[in-house]
Amino acid sequence: MGAAYKLRTIMKYIFVTGGVVSSLGKGLAAASIGTLLEHCGLDVTMQKFDPYLNIDPGTMSPYQHGEVYVLNDGAETDLDLGHYERFIHCELSRLNNLTSGKVFETVLEKERRGDYLGKTVQYIPHVTNEIKQRLYDLTEKNKECDVIITEIGGTVGDIEGYLFLEALRQFALEVGRNNCCFIHVTLLPYIKAAGETKTKPTQQSVAKLREIGIQPDIIVCRTEMDNLTDEEKTKIGMFCNVPPRNVVAFCDVKHSIYECPLDLGRDRVDRIVTEVLGITVPKPKMDEWQKFVGRVIHPSHSVRIAVVGKYISLQDAYKSIYESFTHAGAANDCRVEIVRVDAEALEKSNCAEMIGAVDGILVPGGFGERGVEGKIMAVQYARENNIPFFGICLGMQVAVIEFARNVLGLKDANSTEFNKESSAPVICLQEEQKTIINMGATMRLGAYPAHIQKNTLCSKLYGGAEIISERHRHRYEFNADYREACEKAGLVISAVNDEHGLVEVVELPGHPFFIACQYHPEFQSRPTKSHPLFHGLVAAALEKKQG
Ligand code: GLN
Repeated sequence: MGAAYKLRTIMKYIFVTGGVVSSLGKGLAAASIGTLLEHCGLDVTMQKFDPYLNIDPGTMSPYQHGEVYVLNDGAETDLDLGHYERFIHCELSRLNNLTSGKVFETVLEKERRGDYLGKTVQYIPHVTNEIKQRLYDLTEKNKECDVIITEIGGTVGDIEGYLFLEALRQFALEVGRNNCCFIHVTLLPYIKAAGETKTKPTQQSVAKLREIGIQPDIIVCRTEMDNLTDEEKTKIGMFCNVPPRNVVAFCDVKHSIYECPLDLGRDRVDRIVTEVLGITVPKPKMDEWQKFVGRVIHPSHSVRIAVVGKYISLQDAYKSIYESFTHAGAANDCRVEIVRVDAEALEKSNCAEMIGAVDGILVPGGFGERGVEGKIMAVQYARENNIPFFGICLGMQVAVIEFARNVLGLKDANSTEFNKESSAPVICLQEEQKTIINMGATMRLGAYPAHIQKNTLCSKLYGGAEIISERHRHRYEFNADYREACEKAGLVISAVNDEHGLVEVVELPGHPFFIACQYHPEFQSRPTKSHPLFHGLVAAALEKKQG
């Protein structure tokens, strides 16, 4: 996109901060602004600064952090990067996510190496320099881009975020304040009893930013109301020191997060931002996006698909999977109603009761033993009752365990992740994993090629492609010792990684739709380019439903 309006020499920067509370949809607001700018013809990339002390979110539990989003280069990142990749077209790398932990690790490594030449190492300038360096590095790497949007995690006023904001203040001074646009996303609570929208928390959080030396250019107000009145905009503008037209409503969207760019577009955020940055671009062409949203909101059909996992009570643990269903649904003119099934609860109940009425079953990735037997029950139920089934990562591993137990008759079959003593370890640790001690960033991570066998379901779904590239995040693998026995009994291994001989996809012919992959297809599904495997599952579910 965008070549026609190339700014060529000067990169423009947008910084998105959050005020009052977390969970405002700051990442979605940032991504939506990216979408609008991209549809104006600009080339955009996005970056997230996370003020916590983990080096990356890879070691965090989904209860703490939601999904860990994996990039092509193997970086384990914040789930907001998933929004970025789904909302704009650029491909992100490990440079696009930075945590305080990573910043301090780098500073301390330099200190030990003696790079600071005897100086006292300090928060300012050494830590702030390291943060700014990340912006300069991204600028260097994305020379073809016009704009970098950087979202700062957390809420203004948090001790943790202070160094990042200080670094941004300095950075804006260095690259020119007129090349930067600070957007503050904040909450306008509505007090029902008073019938009033309250602006005070916003005033105070902007005051906090200004204390640090950052005057926001645009205030994006998250509100339950349908819009902001002119009066409210004037009041917020006055207290926050911005023109009233730079106060923008960010309303609760009714059906889908993909409405967010359209919602922000109503107030012409794109025009306000580009004016602040001193660039002239045409109006965003949102017709295609609008059409996609239309397909999401008003499909002709519907299916029910069970997701059998361990973290189904969490909103964010399977984020990219749920998004992939939205994309695949839109492509099939079909609403995908997700039935969230707790794998542990399934162990205590029975499949007919809990998943008897669904049109398809998905078992997602996961770690640890809890709920594994429930997932195995779900696979068996899908296999024996001809229900379309799709397994991802651990979902493939449990599909293999189920097959080994119930078709090959190896009753003790298991993964060594769950039973080291299993007499039939059909899933085992990869050779390279056996000597690893540190847990952080040591899995098989990122994009690897897989070679697809002709005349398989997999080949059909991928449109006859022979080599595909998909993203991974796992330690365990299909144990090659059991390959021959499985194949003889009817399991088809439809894709492998040639270099390591690693099994990437398995499937069962004779079943309406039974496929499982070792990789994570959900990280590559996009709104208007739904992933072939999700697409296939939804199509098969629809076929089943329509008989
Ligand atoms: N726990 C399994 C492994 O490490 C599966 C990982 C996953 O589902 N992401 O191989």
